[in-house]
Amino acid sequence: MKATKHQYDVLVVGAGLAGLRAALEVAPVSKACVLTKVYPSRSHSGAAQGGIAAALGNASPDSLEEHIFDTVKGSDYLGDQDAIEILISEAPEIIYEYEHFGVPFDRMADGRLAQRPFGGHSRPRAVYCMDYTGHVLLHTLYEQCIKQDVKFFSEFYTMSLIIRDGVCRGVVAWDTQKGGLHVFHAKAVILGTGGYGRAYKITTNALANTGDGLALASRAGIPIEDIEFVQFHPTGLYKQGILLSEGARGEGAYLTNNLGQRFMEKYAPGKMELAPRDVISRSIQTEVDEGRGINGQDYVYLDIRHLGEQKILERIPQIKDLAQKYLGVDCVTAPVPIQPTAHYSMGGIPTNNDAEVLLDGKDKKVIGLYAAGECACVSVHGGNRLGTNSLLEATLYGRRAGRSAVRFLRDEVLSSLPEDSPDDSQKRIDEIWSKNGSEMPAAIQRELQASMTTGCGVFRQEEGLRQVQEKIQTLKERYRKIRAIDRNSIFNLDLIEAIELGNVLGFAEMIVAGALNRKESRGAHFRKDFPKRDDVNWLKHTLVYRDGDTLRFDYKPVRITRYQPQERKY
Ligand SMILES: Cc1cc2nc3c(=O)[nH]c(=O)nc-3n(C[C@H](O)[C@H](O)[C@H](O)COP(=O)(O)OP(=O)(O)OC[C@H]3O[C@@H](n4cnc5c(N)ncnc54)[C@H](O)[C@@H]3O)c2cc1C
Repeated sequence: MKATKHQYDVLVVGAGLAGLRAALEVAPVSKACVLTKVYPSRSHSGAAQGGIAAALGNASPDSLEEHIFDTVKGSDYLGDQDAIEILISEAPEIIYEYEHFGVPFDRMADGRLAQRPFGGHSRPRAVYCMDYTGHVLLHTLYEQCIKQDVKFFSEFYTMSLIIRDGVCRGVVAWDTQKGGLHVFHAKAVILGTGGYGRAYKITTNALANTGDGLALASRAGIPIEDIEFVQFHPTGLYKQGILLSEGARGEGAYLTNNLGQRFMEKYAPGKMELAPRDVISRSIQTEVDEGRGINGQDYVYLDIRHLGEQKILERIPQIKDLAQKYLGVDCVTAPVPIQPTAHYSMGGIPTNNDAEVLLDGKDKKVIGLYAAGECACVSVHGGNRLGTNSLLEATLYGRRAGRSAVRFLRDEVLSSLPEDSPDDSQKRIDEIWSKNGSEMPAAIQRELQASMTTGCGVFRQEEGLRQVQEKIQTLKERYRKIRAIDRNSIFNLDLIEAIELGNVLGFAEMIVAGALNRKESRGAHFRKDFPKRDDVNWLKHTLVYRDGDTLRFDYKPVRITRYQPQERKY
């Protein structure tokens, strides 16, 4: 393979919070670089709105214990409790670290950091910057990386991992700007490639969220953990899916149906609009399915009028802006049409608490490979993530990944890096460019997304899931007959989108197989035909392997330390 070669000690794939925080840890002590398919500050972390959680106890008394319990309960007892304890215990340190990096968090009158309520949290513990929290955190970390002279390869698309005999030695990437393959050899590789919301039609996720990291890992023989758990956020702008932050409900917004009722009083009287996301999304869907959507349509209202214009502009200005721009609704004077929208992937590449990737999903490590953030599954979110816990997870486990890589460089005796690495990336590109069929990738993608939203969404059942499964098989067939229109090397997004579509088809198949396989309802995975949680048979993580065209399941136990499963009521 003719490719430009590079050598680094540590290579980070992804420039969201997970990747940047990892890079910041390794850069001072090693030769490190970050590869990212979009410009760093365009990573999806920058779209996060509502806040980042830590039990600081500023707005009301709080404790680590309560935050841990809320997270375990929120996960529907599928989260690994030792990993959750780490997440929550180190959270305050992460917030103060951000503050010292220069993040301008909102403050209370006495100067301490302000904290707002969020779904599923029993105390107000979301630290925030209006409703631009992710934007501010991402830019601050990027700034810090530049200060540390981290080398960035922006608009480099990673195509495969180089793993030989269970040891990761780098990646192969395509230079989108100039064209051409690059081989990056490295002693340690950290993945922070984000989520896969683009498998769905109605989604909050950026165009780049095509789950590439999952595809990289599963092609390398690594299983994917708990992939059936897809979070649907209750409040996406109607038809657009664009997020209206839970921060709105944290500030006091109502959800109402066509009768003007705050319907959450039926489903979660103790928590109302601040119940966890899985509970609220199902409640909205039930209202719609039973004919109480607004004007008989498939949406309900998010009503923030009673907060008043001043509070809206001060605390949640982005929500006002989005509702106005995309739906022409002024939320100061009118309620905003919303519907559940695919938002977050609880599952991902299995790692241990040190962010080391597990080859068998259990205890056998891939030497020199780490993963953190949304692409990874530690698992701290289990069956359902609480809002504001994921900016925290991405940062904290990103930092852990960086620390593990530094330890690895220090302690391990490494053989020299490989001179060359046989790899099929060029062949895959040539194959796409040689295709002369009649199928357009964009059409295949649209059909896939629509089918996933209908058949593998908030509510699932066997018949619908089987239909999506069949649909994916026909779409995979059609994918083999696509037409490559653009065969240039320079900024060829046609090529990137075709590769991404192949990735999405591959893991969408896994999500559906996982959803069919798990015959119970837990967290965000709700089977109408198995509506109860079944701890006897299903209190376990799934691991799905790809062997060519077939999928294979394995399982591992949930790590329970303090809290035995109880019925989950709000
Ligand atoms: C609209 C929205 C609002 C949210 N609000 C909140 C919130 O308020 N609080 C909260 O806790 N969570 C929130 N979340 C979730 C949270 O933002 C994400 O889970 C988290 O930011 C993910 O960070 P990450 O670093 O793992 O990935 P991302 O930030 O998604 O970054 C992924 C990176 O990987 C790179 N990449 C991907 N594939 C490749 C490839 N093949 N080659 C090279 N590079 C690649 C991309 O270029 C990008 O830099 C929100 C999510 C969304 C979508």
